[in-house]
Amino acid sequence: MTTIKPILILGGTGEGIALAEALHALPNIRVISSLAGRVANPKLPVGEVRIGGFGGVTGLTDYLRDKKVAAVIDATHPFARRMGWHAAEATAAARVPLLRLERPAWVAQSGDNWTLVDDWDQAVAILRKSTKRVFLALGRQELAPFTALTDIAFVIRAVEKPDADIKFADAEIILARGPFNLADERALLQSRRIDCIVCKNSGGSATDAKLEAARELGIEVVMQRRPSRPDVPQVGDIDDAVDWVRKL
Ligand code: NAP
Repeated sequence: MTTIKPILILGGTGEGIALAEALHALPNIRVISSLAGRVANPKLPVGEVRIGGFGGVTGLTDYLRDKKVAAVIDATHPFARRMGWHAAEATAAARVPLLRLERPAWVAQSGDNWTLVDDWDQAVAILRKSTKRVFLALGRQELAPFTALTDIAFVIRAVEKPDADIKFADAEIILARGPFNLADERALLQSRRIDCIVCKNSGGSATDAKLEAARELGIEVVMQRRPSRPDVPQVGDIDDAVDWVRKL
């Protein structure tokens, strides 16, 4: 009898969607993608999808046992701070193999003017000193610390509208989802006379055009470093993750 292996993808990223599609094409694999449920209308991967938290490490451990999950691939965003740690603990408890799929971080090139920070309070302190017109390329849940900067004009680009209680003295909100191209990013920065971009080191090609435009235009970038992660086997692209599953 053929055994079907349930593979759990912890998603919420483009990589999660691409991986679900690639694994879906393999024989004897049942792909289950898990999303946190933060976005109202998420782009859904192929295969089964479950939405919502598991209820911490215990909930995830129970889920792995209950669904007889054969392997977990943590394809969450590089800035999803908790899920990777939960996955490491739960897979160890349930004795299920775990792989981290993470896109490589962006690396500064000649001509870049980047200041790296560990959190947004550090970014706020830097902005307070020297900037007037700032482009915030952040998630809507990360905006609150910047509302204290009442002398700065912000352009904020997020996937969903910020909550009503997030109030800026001067802000233009642009709702958009990547990918973004160089010509549009250059035009945005120039038309708004932006002197600084604030973003996270998300990596990948969908949102790196703003960095290229900033390099061309000599605009400062304040970038948050990636948070620490558990020490688990890791790959940087979909093909390597598929190979790992094939070898299970
Ligand atoms: P997080 O800090 O790592 O996770 C917080 C909690 O959300 C987890 O403890 C877990 O709840 C639940 N969760 C996270 N990812 C989940 C998943 N794939 N499936 C089911 N539950 C999940 O993550 P976050 O920063 O809040 O991000 C939430 C989701 O948005 C992630 O899936 C991530 O890939 C995606 N995302 C995040 C960012 C970002 O910048 N943080 C950007 C783009 C996309 P329980 O403890 O109840 O299981």
